[in-house]
Amino acid sequence: MISTHKYLNLGDKFTSLVNPNFPENLTLELINTDLASQIGLNNDDLKNIQDFCCKEKNKDLKPFASAYAGHQFGQYVNQLGDGRGLLIGQSFAKDKVFDLFLKGSGITPFSRFGDGRAILKSSIREYIGAEAMHGLRIPTSRSLMFFSSSEKVQRDQFETAAMIIRTSKSHIRFGNFEYFYYKNDSENLKKLIDYCFDTYSEFTECDGSIKKLFSKIVDSTASMIASWQALGFCHGVMNTDNFNIFGETFDYGPFAFLEDYNPNFICNLSDTSGRYSYANQPYIGLWNCSALGQAFSNFLSQSEIENTLKYYEKIFSKKLLINFKNKLGLTSLEEGDPNLIQAFLDILHKKNLDFTKSFRDLENVIKKESPTSKDEELRQWQISFLKRHDKDSISLNKKIRIISSSNPIITPKNFQIDKVNMQAEEGDFSTMEKMLDAYKDPFIKNDLTSEFSLPPKNDEKNKRLSCAS
Ligand code: AMP
Ligand code: MG
Repeated sequence: MISTHKYLNLGDKFTSLVNPNFPENLTLELINTDLASQIGLNNDDLKNIQDFCCKEKNKDLKPFASAYAGHQFGQYVNQLGDGRGLLIGQSFAKDKVFDLFLKGSGITPFSRFGDGRAILKSSIREYIGAEAMHGLRIPTSRSLMFFSSSEKVQRDQFETAAMIIRTSKSHIRFGNFEYFYYKNDSENLKKLIDYCFDTYSEFTECDGSIKKLFSKIVDSTASMIASWQALGFCHGVMNTDNFNIFGETFDYGPFAFLEDYNPNFICNLSDTSGRYSYANQPYIGLWNCSALGQAFSNFLSQSEIENTLKYYEKIFSKKLLINFKNKLGLTSLEEGDPNLIQAFLDILHKKNLDFTKSFRDLENVIKKESPTSKDEELRQWQISFLKRHDKDSISLNKKIRIISSSNPIITPKNFQIDKVNMQAEEGDFSTMEKMLDAYKDPFIKNDLTSEFSLPPKNDEKNKRLSCAS
């Protein structure tokens, strides 16, 4: 069932009711029925949403835009808000609540100079990106519906408009808190905090403590980024308005997955200083948490904020090490293990080797119980790796299982999404559907994962994108 979103009760300082102005000739192209049932939506609900978007029927829904601010590339911007998106309601499954969010449904009071539209290419990127991340077991928003349209919108060139419906546990961003903090509106800031306590069962254990709430957000943010690093995910626009309270990967723009391992990789062409490079992501996660800490500073002392931020570093380092330990198929951590991991990464960097494939290939090294590489440096490393494994007394099968369940066969590459986009512009969504199927389990070997693990041609490698969408 879809209910009116409870966030509307917070009033017009928080939200603004908006009549969507849908792109012309919207056509539902994809629908994620597995996700629908997981979040408590039945076929009638899905039909209602479709009628609402395509036939503009269903007057029960009360869509609205939310006000938020945020730090964009380190600079505070006092009013962002949903300029091209609307929350249309929420659904429930067990004791959990889920947001339903339209993206690309026309202008809102927060559109500034924008047209309120999302283009086909970036909507496809978001749709695939989120579902792939889910398959890769990284917390993320999800993709429920994809609509094409016949409308053209002006960007660098004319583009086709499209619309998606995404779901997430919450659309409350760090920037929602910053919005009230920098307006000196402590009363509404407190109202927002109380809303979090009242709405989300995840925060029940905080017992109304803002310090505990902050710690929980910091914890989930640190864990999310440790997962990004382990899978080679680069977000591209880690502004505080793109971080939510549950550490869900969110607002997919010019993201990428590492291909040739390069810690300095910057996936966003608009990020000229490399603020959001792969190697910087952990620091930016901390920076964003400290921006959130500032927004809580009317309620927390400086030392409470600082101690919680120290906790970020602890959680992040611990989770990162565990993730990489699993990637090597080890069950315990020994003193030399961080060096062993770093030495492998250094070789991948020096020799421009594919991050995803190189880790997955460790499965073969373990299976054969002998080095597989013809490259002398990598061979020497594989010998140390096998020696280290000799000290881990679990069975070979268990080691193989750990490696294969921690290292996917595929991650979505920009050159592949480009091909999906070219077909979609011609009205053909078959490769997109195939790709989505592949990400239902990117860790197992089958025809689909084999197809999407084919390497790019030289001129298709390591593609970067700009912010334009
Ligand atoms: P994003 O880059 O999607 O995180 O968006 C940053 C801010 O710009 C948010 O406030 C968006 O709502 C707004 N925005 C981005 N694109 C558009 C657009 N085409 N029309 C209106 N607002 C937009
Ligand atoms: Mg955003």
